[in-house]
Amino acid sequence: MRPTTATRFTIARLLFGADPKLHRMLQYWAATAVLYGFFLFLFYNQGIAAASQAVDALAVYTGCGIAAFYLLVRASRVLGLKPTTLAAAQGLFGIGCNMWAYSIAGPLRGATLMGLMVVVVFCTFALRPRQTLALAFAGLSGMGATMWWHQAHDPLHYPPAVEGVTFAIMAACSLAVTFLTGEMTKLRARLTRQREELAAALDTIRTLATVDELTALANRRHMNEVLAAEERRQSAAGAGSTCIALLDIDHFKQINDRHGHAAGDAVLRSFAAALRAGLRDGDLVARWGGEEFLLMLPDTGIEQAQALLERLRAGVAALAVPGLDGLRIAFSGGIGLRSGGEPFTDTINRADKALYRAKSSGRDRVLVG
Ligand code: GH3
Ligand code: MG
Ligand code: MG
Repeated sequence: MRPTTATRFTIARLLFGADPKLHRMLQYWAATAVLYGFFLFLFYNQGIAAASQAVDALAVYTGCGIAAFYLLVRASRVLGLKPTTLAAAQGLFGIGCNMWAYSIAGPLRGATLMGLMVVVVFCTFALRPRQTLALAFAGLSGMGATMWWHQAHDPLHYPPAVEGVTFAIMAACSLAVTFLTGEMTKLRARLTRQREELAAALDTIRTLATVDELTALANRRHMNEVLAAEERRQSAAGAGSTCIALLDIDHFKQINDRHGHAAGDAVLRSFAAALRAGLRDGDLVARWGGEEFLLMLPDTGIEQAQALLERLRAGVAALAVPGLDGLRIAFSGGIGLRSGGEPFTDTINRADKALYRAKSSGRDRVLVG
């Protein structure tokens, strides 16, 4: 029976865990395990190695190492092991395997040196450039010692000149790869930084596009978007009863004229704070114009809206604006109930007409349109 997608998903979860970071580390681990397996397969099947017993020993060593690293990575959080420590340990283990493979690979030992490059590149994902350089030097020292030992004890099979040139090529390549991967790490760090800066800039733009700078309320543009979304939501889910209220501060120009523009700004801020404090969850208030505010009151009937606005009127009347002792602030308002599936612009028009009537009939009151 073929495994279903769900079964495969569960097996992957069981093997690699649910944490995305751990998942990625174990994917790297799996890739190296496959690589080790492939090398051993070649050693066994192509008769490259000098003695099969030596390959058996290397296979046991490698297998134990792979299993141990799987357990260490999986338990890294519990054991408090950092990715850097794990990567360095796996790198050193890889160097050990390379030294061993070099010793038993016979005439093809030069090919095993490519494994050293893989170790360096693998570790750049977790190590800092300096740590990668240290690892590359550890690799060169280990391999250099192995080569030196062989040419000193078995110069017939390991001619000193050949070993010397091989070492020089390996050292040059290894250092070049280390340098290049270091550059790649810097590039990656720069890209990450730029991505973070871009996300922060996007956040600022989003705030600027939706929030009024003076009062920190939603701005008109954002309110229009919310109303359009609400219109769509209600036409899909069946119309609920939403009230719209337009408020306008009474004689605001006089405040500006008597106390100055900065005092007018302070009044607008205090007024906005009083509205915000008086609204319920789900209500939204926006600065609609200079000293005009629009309230969206979802799931609210006319009586409820009137009661809410009377509470707001009382709150605003009791408002003490810093630096303007004794100044009484009042507003006029108009309420519109969205009827049927009408566009919100129609409801706003009715609220606006009611506001106009409130103004012309003496201000400091709220009427229904
Ligand atoms: P009414 O009772 O009829 O509403 O009279 P009003 O004086 O409140 O209304 P009017 O429309 O004549 O004046 C509104 C004033 O609000 C005019 C404008 O200078 C002022 N204004 C608009 N935006 C701001 C702002 O951001 N800060 C300050 N300080 N004043 C503002
Ligand atoms: Mg006005
Ligand atoms: Mg006004």
